Amino acid sequence: MGNDSVLITKIQRFSLHDGSGIRTTAFLKGCPLRCPWCCNPENLTLSPEPYVKDGIEGIYGEKLTPDELLTELLKDKPFYGGDITEAKDYSITSASEIDRLPGGVTFSGGEALLQMQNLVPVCERLKEEGVHIALETSLFSSPESIALAVEFIDFFYIDVKIMDEHRCRDILNGNINVYNDNLSTVFNSGKPVILRVPVIGGFTDDVENRKAVAELIKSLKDRSNNVLKIELLKEHNLGLSKYESLRAAGSDIALPEYKGMSDEFMEAYKAEVKAVTDLPVEVMKI
Ligand code: SF4
Repeated sequence: MGNDSVLITKIQRFSLHDGSGIRTTAFLKGCPLRCPWCCNPENLTLSPEPYVKDGIEGIYGEKLTPDELLTELLKDKPFYGGDITEAKDYSITSASEIDRLPGGVTFSGGEALLQMQNLVPVCERLKEEGVHIALETSLFSSPESIALAVEFIDFFYIDVKIMDEHRCRDILNGNINVYNDNLSTVFNSGKPVILRVPVIGGFTDDVENRKAVAELIKSLKDRSNNVLKIELLKEHNLGLSKYESLRAAGSDIALPEYKGMSDEFMEAYKAEVKAVTDLPVEVMKI
């Protein structure tokens, strides 16, 4: 197994919201985007960072070798369920089939694809063990990392944020053409996908963006069967204490701009999306 380390901030065990079954979620540090609403500010830079919380000093970020990370992930193997002694085909084509998938490992972030090359030896071993692997991604990453991801990842959670080229660049620091190209690669792979749409006051909730998101969803559904479901993520400010912990250690990171979305707005947006697709659409409150 290669020795290039993987920089992580947290391994969350017994997670029920990051894919099928009981999962172990590894949060990888580093992200090319700067979403003003980000709730994981400790995962933005690709290097360890000091924090101070409740008067206690610490460091966000720990380097693990692939062997060390694999050992941590496989500690939960008995909870993933199913026969995980042999590699499996985990392809599914409808949301109703998600429940038949076992638990497993989810890579999240930050943007886990920034460290995809170093994750390859971990993924290879997880595959040998038959462990189901999911990825939560913004897709703003290199084509090489996406090519590796479609080789190893069984299930994708893909964000749909700001579709306008200029606003995407100015607000998120992202290139929408990179996103669109990477989206095509994932869709061409046939791997199952859940699209996650953060609904953020002043950034993603305007009528033009909602229309562009709806058009994307419609076009994807028209050209493939691998979108299983749409999740509309209601804005929250649960990351605030992590911003404060970074600032207490000297970071000049700006606090998130939280405006909040009403339940009525979320239901109206859900109706707009349902008007263009027969896929399940769900409002998620965290
Ligand atoms: S992509 Fe995710 S981790 Fe990166 S800045 Fe946006 S919300 Fe934060």
